[in-house]
Amino acid sequence: MRQLIRGRTLSFHADPALSEDAFTYHENGAVLVEDGKIVATGDYADLRADGLPEIDHRPNLILPGFIDPHLHFPQVQVIASWGAQLLDWLNTYTFPSEAQFSDEGHATRMADAFLKLLLSHGTTSAVAFCSSHPQSVEALFQASEARNMAMIAGKVMMDRNAPEAVLDTPQRGYDDSKRLLEKWHGRGRQRYAITPRFAITSTPEQMEATGTLVREHPDCHIQTHLSENLAEIEFTLSLYPKARDYLNIYESYGLLGPKILLGHSIHLREREIARMAETGSRAIFCPTSNLFLGSGLFDEAGLRAAGITSGIATDIGGGSSYSMLQTLNEGYKILQLRGQKLHPFAAFHWATRGNAVALGMEDRIGTLTPGTDADLVILDSRATPAMALRMEKAQTLAEELFVLQIMGDDRSVAQTYVAGRPML
Ligand SMILES: [Zn+2]
Repeated sequence: MRQLIRGRTLSFHADPALSEDAFTYHENGAVLVEDGKIVATGDYADLRADGLPEIDHRPNLILPGFIDPHLHFPQVQVIASWGAQLLDWLNTYTFPSEAQFSDEGHATRMADAFLKLLLSHGTTSAVAFCSSHPQSVEALFQASEARNMAMIAGKVMMDRNAPEAVLDTPQRGYDDSKRLLEKWHGRGRQRYAITPRFAITSTPEQMEATGTLVREHPDCHIQTHLSENLAEIEFTLSLYPKARDYLNIYESYGLLGPKILLGHSIHLREREIARMAETGSRAIFCPTSNLFLGSGLFDEAGLRAAGITSGIATDIGGGSSYSMLQTLNEGYKILQLRGQKLHPFAAFHWATRGNAVALGMEDRIGTLTPGTDADLVILDSRATPAMALRMEKAQTLAEELFVLQIMGDDRSVAQTYVAGRPML
Protein backbone atom coordinates (compact mmCIF):
# COMPACT_ATOMS: atom_id res chain seq x y z
CA MET A 1 0.00 0.00 0.00
CA ARG A 2 1.16 3.49 -0.93
CA GLN A 3 0.80 6.25 1.65
CA LEU A 4 2.11 9.70 2.46
CA ILE A 5 3.49 10.49 5.92
CA ARG A 6 3.40 14.25 6.39
CA GLY A 7 5.53 16.46 8.66
CA ARG A 8 8.82 18.34 8.77
CA THR A 9 11.37 15.94 7.30
CA LEU A 10 15.05 15.86 8.28
CA SER A 11 17.57 13.42 6.85
CA PHE A 12 21.37 13.42 6.69
CA HIS A 13 23.33 12.40 3.61
CA ALA A 14 26.79 13.23 5.03
CA ASP A 15 28.57 13.75 8.33
CA PRO A 16 28.02 17.39 9.43
CA ALA A 17 31.57 17.41 10.82
CA LEU A 18 32.92 16.80 7.32
CA SER A 19 30.48 18.66 5.08
CA GLU A 20 28.62 21.99 5.10
CA ASP A 21 25.89 20.38 3.02
CA ALA A 22 25.08 17.39 5.22
CA PHE A 23 21.29 17.26 5.46
CA THR A 24 17.99 17.90 3.70
CA TYR A 25 15.16 19.55 5.59
CA HIS A 26 11.62 20.15 4.29
CA GLU A 27 9.53 22.47 6.45
CA ASN A 28 6.35 21.35 4.69
CA GLY A 29 7.56 17.89 3.87
CA ALA A 30 6.42 14.33 3.46
CA VAL A 31 7.71 10.81 3.02
CA LEU A 32 6.05 8.62 0.39
CA VAL A 33 6.06 4.99 1.51
CA GLU A 34 5.13 1.80 -0.34
CA ASP A 35 5.60 -1.85 0.67
CA GLY A 36 7.85 -0.95 3.58
CA LYS A 37 10.23 1.19 1.50
CA ILE A 38 10.69 4.92 1.08
CA VAL A 39 9.68 5.86 -2.46
CA ALA A 40 10.34 9.60 -2.15
CA THR A 41 11.05 12.30 0.43
CA GLY A 42 10.42 15.95 -0.39
CA ASP A 43 7.96 18.83 -0.36
CA TYR A 44 4.41 17.83 0.41
CA ALA A 45 3.17 19.84 -2.61
CA ASP A 46 5.28 17.70 -4.96
CA LEU A 47 4.33 14.35 -3.43
CA ARG A 48 0.60 14.70 -2.73
CA ALA A 49 -1.87 13.08 -5.11
CA ASP A 50 -5.64 12.65 -5.27
CA GLY A 51 -6.75 9.52 -3.47
CA LEU A 52 -3.34 8.94 -1.81
CA PRO A 53 -3.87 8.17 1.91
CA GLU A 54 -2.10 10.61 4.24
CA ILE A 55 -1.05 10.56 7.88
CA ASP A 56 -0.49 14.10 9.11
CA HIS A 57 2.17 14.51 11.81
CA ARG A 58 2.55 18.30 11.52
CA PRO A 59 4.11 20.18 13.27
CA ASN A 60 6.30 17.27 14.36
CA LEU A 61 9.62 16.26 12.81
CA ILE A 62 10.06 13.10 10.73
CA LEU A 63 13.52 11.51 11.01
CA PRO A 64 14.88 8.08 10.19
CA GLY A 65 14.34 5.75 13.16
CA PHE A 66 17.15 5.70 15.72
CA ILE A 67 19.74 2.93 15.59
CA ASP A 68 21.21 1.57 18.84
CA PRO A 69 24.43 -0.32 18.01
CA HIS A 70 25.25 -1.75 21.47
CA LEU A 71 22.91 -3.01 24.16
CA HIS A 72 22.11 -6.15 26.14
CA PHE A 73 18.68 -7.70 25.73
CA PRO A 74 18.93 -9.91 28.90
CA GLN A 75 19.68 -6.84 31.04
CA VAL A 76 16.20 -5.32 30.90
CA GLN A 77 15.89 -6.04 34.63
CA VAL A 78 19.49 -5.06 35.44
CA ILE A 79 19.10 -1.39 34.54
CA ALA A 80 19.35 0.83 37.65
CA SER A 81 21.34 -1.59 39.83
CA TRP A 82 23.18 0.28 42.56
CA GLY A 83 26.73 0.88 43.58
CA ALA A 84 29.15 -1.16 41.52
CA GLN A 85 31.74 -0.73 38.79
CA LEU A 86 32.01 -3.07 35.83
CA LEU A 87 33.39 -6.35 37.22
CA ASP A 88 31.37 -6.27 40.48
CA TRP A 89 28.30 -5.14 38.58
CA LEU A 90 28.59 -8.13 36.25
CA ASN A 91 29.00 -10.63 39.11
CA THR A 92 26.44 -9.13 41.47
CA TYR A 93 23.62 -8.18 39.13
CA THR A 94 24.17 -9.12 35.51
CA PHE A 95 25.14 -12.78 35.48
CA PRO A 96 22.32 -13.86 37.85
CA SER A 97 19.80 -11.96 35.73
CA GLU A 98 21.13 -13.41 32.47
CA ALA A 99 20.92 -16.92 33.97
CA GLN A 100 17.12 -16.60 33.95
CA PHE A 101 17.15 -16.52 30.14
CA SER A 102 17.64 -20.27 30.00
CA ASP A 103 13.89 -20.29 30.61
CA GLU A 104 12.11 -19.93 27.28
CA GLY A 105 8.98 -18.38 28.78
CA HIS A 106 11.02 -15.73 30.56
CA ALA A 107 13.06 -14.98 27.42
CA THR A 108 9.90 -14.61 25.32
CA ARG A 109 8.23 -12.24 27.79
CA MET A 110 11.40 -10.13 28.08
CA ALA A 111 11.90 -10.01 24.27
CA ASP A 112 8.42 -8.59 23.80
CA ALA A 113 8.92 -6.00 26.54
CA PHE A 114 12.38 -5.11 25.22
CA LEU A 115 11.18 -4.41 21.67
CA LYS A 116 8.18 -2.43 22.91
CA LEU A 117 10.60 -0.26 24.90
CA LEU A 118 12.92 0.27 21.94
CA LEU A 119 10.01 1.30 19.72
CA SER A 120 8.43 3.63 22.29
CA HIS A 121 11.82 5.38 22.45
CA GLY A 122 12.00 5.72 18.65
CA THR A 123 14.65 3.04 18.11
CA THR A 124 13.91 0.91 15.05
CA SER A 125 17.17 -1.08 14.75
CA ALA A 126 19.56 -2.40 17.35
CA VAL A 127 22.64 -4.55 17.79
CA ALA A 128 21.96 -6.71 20.81
CA PHE A 129 23.88 -9.12 22.98
CA CYS A 130 21.65 -12.01 24.04
CA SER A 131 22.49 -14.38 26.91
CA SER A 132 24.60 -17.51 26.41
CA HIS A 133 21.40 -19.55 26.02
CA PRO A 134 20.19 -20.14 22.45
CA GLN A 135 16.61 -19.68 23.75
CA SER A 136 17.32 -16.01 24.33
CA VAL A 137 18.41 -15.52 20.71
CA GLU A 138 15.39 -17.40 19.39
CA ALA A 139 13.07 -15.30 21.54
CA LEU A 140 14.56 -12.00 20.39
CA PHE A 141 14.65 -12.85 16.67
CA GLN A 142 11.09 -14.23 16.77
CA ALA A 143 9.80 -11.04 18.40
CA SER A 144 11.80 -8.87 16.00
CA GLU A 145 10.71 -10.81 12.92
CA ALA A 146 7.06 -10.51 13.99
CA ARG A 147 7.51 -6.71 13.93
CA ASN A 148 9.69 -6.78 10.78
CA MET A 149 12.43 -4.85 12.62
CA ALA A 150 16.02 -4.86 11.38
CA MET A 151 17.72 -6.55 14.35
CA ILE A 152 21.32 -7.66 14.66
CA ALA A 153 21.84 -10.04 17.57
CA GLY A 154 23.87 -12.98 18.77
CA LYS A 155 24.36 -15.52 21.50
CA VAL A 156 27.02 -14.44 23.99
CA MET A 157 29.95 -16.84 23.99
CA MET A 158 31.55 -17.11 27.44
CA ASP A 159 33.27 -20.12 28.95
CA ARG A 160 34.98 -18.86 32.11
CA ASN A 161 34.98 -16.32 34.97
CA ALA A 162 31.21 -16.39 35.46
CA PRO A 163 28.67 -18.68 37.18
CA GLU A 164 28.08 -22.07 35.57
CA ALA A 165 24.50 -21.09 34.66
CA VAL A 166 25.67 -18.56 32.06
CA LEU A 167 28.67 -20.44 30.67
CA ASP A 168 29.07 -22.49 27.52
CA THR A 169 32.17 -24.33 26.28
CA PRO A 170 34.30 -23.57 23.23
CA GLN A 171 32.55 -26.34 21.28
CA ARG A 172 29.03 -25.56 22.46
CA GLY A 173 29.57 -21.84 21.90
CA TYR A 174 30.67 -22.55 18.34
CA ASP A 175 27.92 -25.09 17.58
CA ASP A 176 25.08 -23.00 19.03
CA SER A 177 26.31 -19.84 17.31
CA LYS A 178 26.65 -21.64 14.00
CA ARG A 179 23.17 -23.13 14.18
CA LEU A 180 21.55 -19.82 15.16
CA LEU A 181 23.51 -17.98 12.50
CA GLU A 182 22.49 -20.40 9.77
CA LYS A 183 18.87 -20.11 10.83
CA TRP A 184 18.59 -16.34 11.31
CA HIS A 185 21.29 -14.48 9.40
CA GLY A 186 19.67 -12.86 6.36
CA ARG A 187 16.20 -14.19 7.19
CA GLY A 188 14.00 -11.17 6.38
CA ARG A 189 15.59 -8.21 8.15
CA GLN A 190 17.35 -10.30 10.83
CA ARG A 191 21.14 -10.47 10.93
CA TYR A 192 23.41 -12.49 13.19
CA ALA A 193 26.31 -11.00 15.17
CA ILE A 194 29.11 -13.28 16.36
CA THR A 195 29.28 -12.37 20.05
CA PRO A 196 32.25 -13.18 22.28
CA ARG A 197 31.30 -11.23 25.44
CA PHE A 198 34.87 -10.04 26.09
CA ALA A 199 38.29 -11.55 26.59
CA ILE A 200 37.83 -12.03 30.35
CA THR A 201 35.01 -14.55 29.88
CA SER A 202 36.51 -16.42 26.91
CA THR A 203 39.42 -18.86 27.09
CA PRO A 204 41.97 -18.83 24.26
CA GLU A 205 40.21 -21.98 22.96
CA GLN A 206 36.93 -20.10 22.73
CA MET A 207 38.59 -17.11 21.06
CA GLU A 208 40.06 -19.55 18.54
CA ALA A 209 36.57 -20.94 17.82
CA THR A 210 35.30 -17.38 17.46
CA GLY A 211 38.00 -16.67 14.89
CA THR A 212 36.91 -19.75 12.96
CA LEU A 213 33.28 -18.56 12.94
CA VAL A 214 34.39 -15.14 11.71
CA ARG A 215 36.43 -16.67 8.88
CA GLU A 216 33.52 -18.91 7.91
CA HIS A 217 31.00 -16.05 8.00
CA PRO A 218 32.75 -12.82 6.97
CA ASP A 219 29.36 -11.22 6.27
CA CYS A 220 28.35 -11.26 9.97
CA HIS A 221 29.02 -8.47 12.42
CA ILE A 222 31.10 -9.20 15.51
CA GLN A 223 30.23 -7.50 18.78
CA THR A 224 32.31 -7.41 21.94
CA HIS A 225 33.75 -5.07 24.57
CA LEU A 226 37.11 -3.28 24.69
CA SER A 227 38.85 -1.17 27.36
CA GLU A 228 35.81 -0.04 29.31
CA ASN A 229 37.29 0.03 32.79
CA LEU A 230 40.84 0.08 34.20
CA ALA A 231 40.39 -2.97 36.47
CA GLU A 232 38.92 -4.85 33.49
CA ILE A 233 41.99 -4.04 31.37
CA GLU A 234 44.37 -5.18 34.11
CA PHE A 235 42.51 -8.48 34.63
CA THR A 236 42.28 -9.06 30.87
CA LEU A 237 46.01 -8.61 30.34
CA SER A 238 46.76 -10.98 33.23
CA LEU A 239 44.67 -13.64 31.46
CA TYR A 240 46.44 -13.11 28.12
CA PRO A 241 50.04 -12.43 29.24
CA LYS A 242 51.42 -12.66 25.71
CA ALA A 243 49.12 -9.96 24.32
CA ARG A 244 50.75 -6.60 23.55
CA ASP A 245 47.57 -4.85 24.70
CA TYR A 246 43.82 -5.55 25.01
CA LEU A 247 43.05 -5.05 21.32
CA ASN A 248 45.87 -7.42 20.39
CA ILE A 249 43.84 -10.31 21.86
CA TYR A 250 41.00 -9.79 19.38
CA GLU A 251 43.57 -9.00 16.70
CA SER A 252 45.47 -12.25 17.18
CA TYR A 253 42.30 -14.30 16.61
CA GLY A 254 41.51 -12.46 13.37
CA LEU A 255 38.49 -10.52 14.62
CA LEU A 256 39.43 -6.98 13.57
CA GLY A 257 37.92 -5.25 10.54
CA PRO A 258 34.96 -3.04 9.57
CA LYS A 259 32.46 -5.64 10.90
CA ILE A 260 33.65 -5.53 14.51
CA LEU A 261 31.83 -3.26 16.96
CA LEU A 262 34.07 -2.58 19.97
CA GLY A 263 31.84 -1.42 22.81
CA HIS A 264 33.30 1.41 24.93
CA SER A 265 36.88 1.74 23.56
CA ILE A 266 37.70 4.29 26.26
CA HIS A 267 41.16 3.64 27.73
CA LEU A 268 43.08 2.94 24.52
CA ARG A 269 46.81 2.91 23.95
CA GLU A 270 48.34 4.57 20.89
CA ARG A 271 49.03 1.26 19.17
CA GLU A 272 45.43 0.16 19.68
CA ILE A 273 44.09 3.36 18.14
CA ALA A 274 46.41 2.96 15.15
CA ARG A 275 45.38 -0.69 14.63
CA MET A 276 41.68 0.10 14.94
CA ALA A 277 42.09 2.79 12.28
CA GLU A 278 44.16 0.57 9.96
CA THR A 279 41.69 -2.30 10.17
CA GLY A 280 38.53 -0.15 9.99
CA SER A 281 37.32 -1.53 13.34
CA ARG A 282 34.45 0.46 14.89
CA ALA A 283 34.35 2.07 18.33
CA ILE A 284 30.98 2.34 20.09
CA PHE A 285 30.46 5.17 22.59
CA CYS A 286 28.02 4.33 25.42
CA PRO A 287 27.67 7.58 27.40
CA THR A 288 25.01 6.77 30.00
CA SER A 289 26.72 3.48 30.81
CA ASN A 290 30.19 5.03 31.02
CA LEU A 291 28.91 7.58 33.55
CA PHE A 292 26.71 5.14 35.45
CA LEU A 293 29.48 2.57 35.94
CA GLY A 294 32.13 5.26 36.41
CA SER A 295 34.10 3.79 33.51
CA GLY A 296 35.63 6.85 31.85
CA LEU A 297 35.30 9.54 29.19
CA PHE A 298 35.22 8.53 25.51
CA ASP A 299 37.57 10.53 23.26
CA GLU A 300 35.35 11.20 20.22
CA ALA A 301 37.60 13.81 18.64
CA GLY A 302 40.75 11.79 19.21
CA LEU A 303 39.35 8.66 17.58
CA ARG A 304 37.89 10.71 14.73
CA ALA A 305 41.24 12.40 14.11
CA ALA A 306 42.85 8.95 13.97
CA GLY A 307 40.34 7.94 11.28
CA ILE A 308 38.15 5.63 13.37
CA THR A 309 34.40 5.46 12.72
CA SER A 310 32.39 5.54 15.96
CA GLY A 311 28.80 4.68 16.79
CA ILE A 312 26.80 5.85 19.81
CA ALA A 313 24.65 3.48 21.86
CA THR A 314 22.67 2.99 25.09
CA ASP A 315 24.41 -0.14 26.45
CA ILE A 316 21.30 -1.16 28.39
CA GLY A 317 21.52 -2.30 31.24
CA GLY A 318 24.88 -0.68 32.18
CA GLY A 319 23.30 2.24 30.36
CA SER A 320 20.52 3.96 32.25
CA SER A 321 18.11 4.98 29.46
CA TYR A 322 16.60 3.35 26.37
CA SER A 323 16.38 6.81 24.82
CA MET A 324 18.86 7.72 22.11
CA LEU A 325 17.94 11.36 22.87
CA GLN A 326 19.11 10.91 26.47
CA THR A 327 22.15 9.07 25.14
CA LEU A 328 22.99 12.13 23.03
CA ASN A 329 22.37 14.32 26.09
CA GLU A 330 24.88 12.42 28.23
CA GLY A 331 27.23 12.17 25.24
CA TYR A 332 27.19 15.95 25.00
CA LYS A 333 28.16 16.22 28.67
CA ILE A 334 30.99 13.69 28.45
CA LEU A 335 32.43 15.53 25.47
CA GLN A 336 32.12 18.80 27.43
CA LEU A 337 34.33 17.26 30.13
CA ARG A 338 36.78 16.35 27.35
CA GLY A 339 36.72 19.92 25.98
CA GLN A 340 34.88 18.66 22.88
CA LYS A 341 31.56 19.77 21.40
CA LEU A 342 28.65 17.65 20.19
CA HIS A 343 26.64 19.93 17.87
CA PRO A 344 22.96 18.97 17.53
CA PHE A 345 23.34 18.29 13.79
CA ALA A 346 26.27 15.97 14.50
CA ALA A 347 24.27 14.35 17.31
CA PHE A 348 21.19 13.57 15.20
CA HIS A 349 23.39 12.41 12.33
CA TRP A 350 25.18 10.07 14.75
CA ALA A 351 22.02 8.42 16.10
CA THR A 352 20.68 7.83 12.56
CA ARG A 353 22.94 7.74 9.48
CA GLY A 354 26.16 7.78 11.55
CA ASN A 355 25.26 4.55 13.33
CA ALA A 356 24.15 3.06 10.00
CA VAL A 357 27.58 3.92 8.57
CA ALA A 358 29.23 2.28 11.59
CA LEU A 359 27.26 -0.86 10.71
CA GLY A 360 27.94 -0.53 6.96
CA MET A 361 24.16 -0.43 6.41
CA GLU A 362 23.54 3.17 5.30
CA ASP A 363 22.14 1.92 1.99
CA ARG A 364 19.24 0.33 3.94
CA ILE A 365 18.61 2.23 7.17
CA GLY A 366 19.41 5.55 8.85
CA THR A 367 18.25 8.01 6.17
CA LEU A 368 15.07 9.07 4.33
CA THR A 369 16.67 8.27 0.97
CA PRO A 370 14.38 6.61 -1.63
CA GLY A 371 14.89 2.86 -1.81
CA THR A 372 15.76 2.48 1.88
CA ASP A 373 13.51 0.87 4.48
CA ALA A 374 10.74 3.08 5.85
CA ASP A 375 11.85 3.06 9.51
CA LEU A 376 10.86 6.46 10.92
CA VAL A 377 10.59 8.32 14.19
CA ILE A 378 8.18 11.23 14.68
CA LEU A 379 9.56 13.73 17.20
CA ASP A 380 7.60 16.30 19.20
CA SER A 381 9.91 19.02 20.48
CA ARG A 382 7.12 20.47 22.69
CA ALA A 383 6.26 17.17 24.39
CA THR A 384 6.57 18.43 27.98
CA PRO A 385 5.63 21.78 29.54
CA ALA A 386 9.32 22.55 30.12
CA MET A 387 10.16 21.80 26.48
CA ALA A 388 7.20 23.83 25.19
CA LEU A 389 8.33 26.81 27.27
CA ARG A 390 11.93 26.50 26.04
CA MET A 391 10.74 26.13 22.43
CA GLU A 392 9.07 29.57 22.59
CA LYS A 393 12.61 30.96 22.37
CA ALA A 394 13.99 28.55 19.76
CA GLN A 395 14.63 30.34 16.48
CA THR A 396 16.42 27.72 14.38
CA LEU A 397 16.27 24.03 13.54
CA ALA A 398 19.60 23.53 15.36
CA GLU A 399 18.14 25.06 18.54
CA GLU A 400 15.07 22.85 18.29
CA LEU A 401 17.20 19.74 17.82
CA PHE A 402 19.29 20.71 20.84
CA VAL A 403 16.14 21.01 22.98
CA LEU A 404 15.23 17.47 21.88
CA GLN A 405 18.79 16.25 22.51
CA ILE A 406 18.96 17.63 26.05
CA MET A 407 15.34 17.50 27.26
CA GLY A 408 13.81 14.80 25.08
CA ASP A 409 13.01 11.15 25.87
CA ASP A 410 10.19 8.73 25.04
CA ARG A 411 7.64 11.48 25.72
CA SER A 412 8.98 13.22 22.61
CA VAL A 413 8.35 10.18 20.42
CA ALA A 414 4.91 10.74 18.89
CA GLN A 415 5.10 7.67 16.64
CA THR A 416 7.58 5.09 15.36
CA TYR A 417 7.25 3.37 11.98
CA VAL A 418 8.92 0.08 11.12
CA ALA A 419 8.96 -0.74 7.40
CA GLY A 420 6.14 1.74 6.91
CA ARG A 421 3.90 0.42 9.71
CA PRO A 422 3.05 2.51 12.81
CA MET A 423 4.18 0.67 15.96
CA LEU A 424 2.79 2.78 18.84
ZN1 LIG B 1 27.89 -3.80 26.76
